[in-house]
Amino acid sequence: MVEDDAVCPVCGRWLGTRIVCGECSGARRWFVRGIYGFYYEGKLREAIHAFKFSGAKKVGRRLVRIVEDRIRALSSGFDCVVPVPVSEKRLKERGFNQSFIISNEIKDITGIDLVHHALVKRVPTKDQFSLSRRERARNIKGAFQVRDTSCVAGRRILLVDDLFTTGYTAGEAARTLRTAGCRDVVLFALARTP
Ligand SMILES: [Zn+2]
Repeated sequence: MVEDDAVCPVCGRWLGTRIVCGECSGARRWFVRGIYGFYYEGKLREAIHAFKFSGAKKVGRRLVRIVEDRIRALSSGFDCVVPVPVSEKRLKERGFNQSFIISNEIKDITGIDLVHHALVKRVPTKDQFSLSRRERARNIKGAFQVRDTSCVAGRRILLVDDLFTTGYTAGEAARTLRTAGCRDVVLFALARTP
């Protein structure tokens, strides 16, 4: 499990103490802070993999429940829950968006609204994990769109993703939301690369 008091409060990088890391203080991040459930390694990696690629939704929901106290503790900091969307094409291939499953569980834990049609992915992109750092940034740029500004304007959003690696995907989704006028974005990622 990622210990909040030993990591960067924005990107979740392990530092042994809770200070903003060099990368987050040097470059503008579009989300103000981040909460990360688990490190993507060992058994957890297998579990997330089963959830993400084999449709094991129950596994995803149980992982969220393991960190539900941390989610509940934060719930005064946001007004709605927004999953990082996938493209229509990906949705058809996988049958579900894993970030939506996580978001739905967070909605059940906190009672806070899930807003899943406001942010959309308008173009399919290549899988980020198959690309280099520079390619990842280029691949995801402009991929999201806020379809209904009234759902996000002035609100504090908990943006939800399944896996945080370089942070480009979450960053671009957060940038899109901020540009559409939301007040703040806090990120929740179920897992993070160690
Ligand atoms: Zn950081």
